[in-house]
Amino acid sequence: MDVVDIIRSKRDGSELSDGAIDWVIAAYTRGEVAEEQMSALLMAIFFVGLTPQELNRWTAAMIASGERLSFPGLGRPTTDKHSTGGVGDKITLPLTPIVAACGAAVPQLSGRGLGHTGGTLDKLESIRGWRASISNEEMRAQLRDVGAVVCAAGAGLAPADRKLYALRDVTATVESIPLIASSIMSKKIAEGTSALVLDVKVGVGAFMKSRERARELATTMVGLGSAHGVNTVALLTAMDTPLGLTAGNALEVAESLEVLAGGGPADVVELTLALAREMLAACGLTGGKDPADAIADGSAMDSWNAMIRAQGGDPAAPLPVAPHRHEVVASSSGRVVRVDALAVGVAAWRLGAGRARKEDAVSFGAGVQMHAKPGDIVTAGSPLFTLHADDEARFDRALDALTGAVDIAAFDAAWSKPALLLERVGA
Ligand code: URA
Repeated sequence: MDVVDIIRSKRDGSELSDGAIDWVIAAYTRGEVAEEQMSALLMAIFFVGLTPQELNRWTAAMIASGERLSFPGLGRPTTDKHSTGGVGDKITLPLTPIVAACGAAVPQLSGRGLGHTGGTLDKLESIRGWRASISNEEMRAQLRDVGAVVCAAGAGLAPADRKLYALRDVTATVESIPLIASSIMSKKIAEGTSALVLDVKVGVGAFMKSRERARELATTMVGLGSAHGVNTVALLTAMDTPLGLTAGNALEVAESLEVLAGGGPADVVELTLALAREMLAACGLTGGKDPADAIADGSAMDSWNAMIRAQGGDPAAPLPVAPHRHEVVASSSGRVVRVDALAVGVAAWRLGAGRARKEDAVSFGAGVQMHAKPGDIVTAGSPLFTLHADDEARFDRALDALTGAVDIAAFDAAWSKPALLLERVGA
């Protein structure tokens, strides 16, 4: 095979053969295709796209670049969720133990945050003693005994994606639907789940700003899952407003515990229950315990405690609290009609909750606590946000991000609650 021929072929709009795709992914993973050549191929794909046949094979080759986990003999079906990422998106935390309490096994391989959306592992690491890295054997045992695992993906899982994603990041080729779909789905398929629910976010705080692009991404990923034997459905959900009332690691863990205890913000509860029901249906567990009942009877909280303890965490330990606080108050009275998700995400990130480079550490206590969401009535001087940081010097830049983030209209201004669940894609 000649990589220059492959690049030229794609650039000129021809369909790549299965053999060419298998070879180029394997050779690149082994370090035998130069970074500049793969960059050129990615840019050609960015402009020309991949046919469904090419995309299936590209994804299969990425899966085949590493190990593919499987979990036979657990005595319960596996099901998982993936979110394309949003501000305040802590849903994995309550969702995983709820679904386990309803009888499924959830093998959730998660990532760390980069940029304005937080990472699930960063949130869980705010719990004293909790370990993100566990072996495949520990994962299997925990799935059998507890039914719920959230952990870091090992280096052996889809190594082609690790290299390709880093290269896309520096070559302006991230925003390509076939490349995003193959990247997400290669990891999720390799993780060994039999069913998958995708939460594809749409809006100002999401990767996909338009409903059409989000639908196209969802449809592409559902097709890839089904082609690889994973029963996959997707929900398109709104990400114009942050989810819940917190953005920041320990703050989000505390809010997730409220949900597991039967309280919590209505939007977090609504999305958690919708995704939980989809996950159970996707793995064939219908007619059993309902997710709302697993919260009400305490079994979801029991699953959480077991899941945290199994990975060395102390669920009773106090969560980290940032030493400095700064309050942002409403400048006028009226009804809040907009809280900008991207602004809140960037503020939380600048407060220290997120990282700018992969190797940076995060602050567990830092973040933004919201006191009003769209629809709420506020009076001038009442609190809109409390900012939390380890270092007071961080407040100024976070406040810059929040400038203009909230719209307050007249008390009697027409306002209707926007839908959170927008659309469902899949059988
Ligand atoms: N998340 C991924 O894992 N891959 C992408 O390409 C984009 C988001």
